[in-house]
Amino acid sequence: MNTNSMTEWAKSYSWKLIRNQAYGKYRGYYFTVFDTSNIRLVLTALPSLTESESVDIYRAIEENKEGLRIVEHGIFKSCGNLLRVSFTEATMKAMTQEDIGSFFDQITDLLSQLGISATDNCFICSSDFGTQETLFDNILVPLCGTCYDHLEQEYIKAEQEFSSEEKKYGLGFIGALLGGLLATIPWILLSYHGWYVGIIGFLIMFLSLKGYKLLGARIGILTPWIVGGLTIFLIVLAELVANLLQVSAALKEVFDISPSLGQTFGVFIELLKDSTTGILRGVIINLLIGIVIGLAGTISLFKDMKLNINKQVDAYRVARA
Ligand SMILES: [Zn+2]
Repeated sequence: MNTNSMTEWAKSYSWKLIRNQAYGKYRGYYFTVFDTSNIRLVLTALPSLTESESVDIYRAIEENKEGLRIVEHGIFKSCGNLLRVSFTEATMKAMTQEDIGSFFDQITDLLSQLGISATDNCFICSSDFGTQETLFDNILVPLCGTCYDHLEQEYIKAEQEFSSEEKKYGLGFIGALLGGLLATIPWILLSYHGWYVGIIGFLIMFLSLKGYKLLGARIGILTPWIVGGLTIFLIVLAELVANLLQVSAALKEVFDISPSLGQTFGVFIELLKDSTTGILRGVIINLLIGIVIGLAGTISLFKDMKLNINKQVDAYRVARA
């Protein structure tokens, strides 16, 4: 089932296509095809199944595994039941449109011979009127009117938030600063005692993002700049504070004086310049690891979030189409 065969086949049955996903109805059953790069999945929503029906399906597919060309299959419960079937990449590549048609024929034959209907119940609440169809967690399912309306409200909210111009960046900045500051405490304490603390860069980024969201700011194009920028700033600040505390404590102990901030800073700079102390090396290692981890985290979390929002909004658009 190379991507093209699957896409062409899906189009010929008026299935919908979003990114690397295809879904639609075939002989009354609801199918969603995930065409990811490694394992490719076909999911069928079967809202209500008894324990013995699940066993029957499993057994029947197991017996026809070769003809169906599948490697793995199983039934799992989301709200209703989902039948999941996966292929190897090689199989998928080799499948023509005819092969795909034959697969869907076989799998639907198998289900209908077992007397299992796909459409008579709501996937979420199992009521008897599963008449609307929509994407739920990216899977095409039948829903009753009540559950459909409820879900639609959520999608509308997601889209409004997504497209809203009002991001409240100022509030987000304050939240991110407070959250990130909290995470500098373990950095300062551990670095003060001479530990390598770069990994805490992730915590600073994470709490900064948490703080951003906690104050009710929305995710927008500036969010990663705010969170990423504050993460770098707070890492540098935390490392500086830890080192100044260390120097100050040393001065107190050795010379029995309470140095001013200016004096402490001056001594710290001298120590940094003196390569025999190894202080510069420690500071650089902490900063480099912290910043790299913090920024990598910012980028990956933000990507995930944006993807999730996009998915929700896509689903909403499909539901409305
Ligand atoms: Zn329902």
